[in-house]
Amino acid sequence: MIADQRADLTGAARLLGSARSVLLLAHNNPDADSLGSALTLGLALGRRGAEVSVSFDVPGAIPQSLSGLPGVDLVTPAERWLQAGTSGLDLLVSVDAGSAERLGRLASLFDGDVPLLVIDHHASNTYFGQHHLVDPSADATVVLVDALLSELGVPLDADLAALLYAGLATDTGGFRHGSAAAHVLAARLMAAGARPAELLQAITDSHPFGWLGLLSAVLGRAVLDPLALGGRGLVHTCVTLRDSAGLRQEEADSVIDILRTTSEAAAAAVLKQSAADEWQVSLRSRDGVRVGVAAIALGGGGHPQAAGFTWRGDYQGAIAALTQALDGPGAVSDEA
Ligand code: AMP
Ligand code: MN
Ligand code: MN
Repeated sequence: MIADQRADLTGAARLLGSARSVLLLAHNNPDADSLGSALTLGLALGRRGAEVSVSFDVPGAIPQSLSGLPGVDLVTPAERWLQAGTSGLDLLVSVDAGSAERLGRLASLFDGDVPLLVIDHHASNTYFGQHHLVDPSADATVVLVDALLSELGVPLDADLAALLYAGLATDTGGFRHGSAAAHVLAARLMAAGARPAELLQAITDSHPFGWLGLLSAVLGRAVLDPLALGGRGLVHTCVTLRDSAGLRQEEADSVIDILRTTSEAAAAAVLKQSAADEWQVSLRSRDGVRVGVAAIALGGGGHPQAAGFTWRGDYQGAIAALTQALDGPGAVSDEA
């Protein structure tokens, strides 16, 4: 396996190093791993003389919590590419997306003649490109991007280190779930100039006062189902459009990190309403429960213990379907 991964790495670095005009794509509702990976590669390839742009479909603007990251000037609206197509480009790169659907409308760019390199760490990756650097053992996509920088001979500076650190810290749950390699990389990134407290203050540790009202309503209606998952327990709640009115996506996204601390439940679900009959569902689990299996069964994806799916219907219907999927094969590992 190691030989294969190295071959992927060398091949991916060769493609990136020889491309003159590159479009880097982050997934819908980009997080720090996806946008951080795209911006890192964008800055690095730009310094080597390539013409680079970064884009994502939804939402139409950079999430405020990520808008202070280095390199955000590289971001171009999805509409530009949907209208102009891929002419003039010689490489498309998707970062941190497990499937083409995660790129929304920008997936339509893959029908053309421009090769697509997929860089990702989701085990559920569907290998939707022509070239792949996919390693589910990587803590984050930024880990693969760091390896690519070394392969390309691009030295880390403070901007690149900040971008990589942002993705690494957030995807490992503030290093709780990070491997020893993640901690070693963090030390290297700090030595290159990444400033953890300053970076995470903007990304995860700052919310408007209205967030407290959202939390009060949403946590107040949380439900504990102690019988779910064969008695391991499921805790769930919803964030309606009314709860989140006037607030950022970041406020709704933060709820899962509180819900998942419920000691009586091995799995947690937050349904975030995105339209009258549409919910974006965030799932987390521990103690051998694999919510990722349920997310895939319900048309979504992610990692074994951090996953999501989109539900069309009502809240109760989503919970019924989720409870059933969690009782299906593979959601509870044998050792649990
Ligand atoms: P989130 O709860 O949004 O932080 O997402 C947790 C994980 O699930 C991430 O790895 C996402 O890429 C993945 N994920 C979330 N929503 C979806 C979806 N609708 N389809 C596929 N994967 C998803
Ligand atoms: Mn991501
Ligand atoms: Mn990731």
